[in-house]
Amino acid sequence: MRDTTLRITEIFHSLQGETSRLGLPTVFVRLTGCPLRCNWCDSAYAFHGGRSMELAEVLAQVAQHGARHVCVTGGEPLAQRPVHALLTRLCDAGYSVSLETSGALSVAEVDPRVSRIVDIKAPGSGEADRNLWDNLALLNAHDEIKFVLADRADYDWACTVLRERNLAQVAPVLFSPVWESLPPAQLAQWVLADRLPVRMQVQLHKILWGEQPGV
Ligand code: SF4
Repeated sequence: MRDTTLRITEIFHSLQGETSRLGLPTVFVRLTGCPLRCNWCDSAYAFHGGRSMELAEVLAQVAQHGARHVCVTGGEPLAQRPVHALLTRLCDAGYSVSLETSGALSVAEVDPRVSRIVDIKAPGSGEADRNLWDNLALLNAHDEIKFVLADRADYDWACTVLRERNLAQVAPVLFSPVWESLPPAQLAQWVLADRLPVRMQVQLHKILWGEQPGV
């Protein structure tokens, strides 16, 4: 693949369903492919397929939607090297840009204007051994760290990581329940009982539209 070409699953306009940008009208650019296989993955349709697009074409499609916020997601967007050029060109064009990444690949080369939303994979994902812990030293208050939790064992594990790595001092921390696995009210009770320095979130887009792709 050339430096100016990306494999893209979809580009669509919706409300941001997660993070501190929750509810903001946003254009999503979903890149195809991911080297991980999280047990609860909700975007497995992006593992394969997609279509090859030049950066200029991606930028033109983003512009057509007329939104100020752009979220580059996947799949795992960092698995395609030209994503760095895309992120820089989106920032240059004046968009407020976020990147959603699995936490398994380095975020070191991401344009510093981008808000990096970095997962820490809990054991229930089946991919906890893929966490690239060195990423934490690269993050700042402009980024966010996200745990997706399937059960109480995941929650206890995340609390230990939060405490031992002092994550609340690194970047805002998000705790999110796995859809239809961990009841949101249960997670809310745990977070409150433990006085955790985290933001609990539920995925707005699934409440609004269920699990359909492209919304
Ligand atoms: S990293 Fe994201 S896209 Fe990849 S398998 Fe996990 S949840 Fe799915």
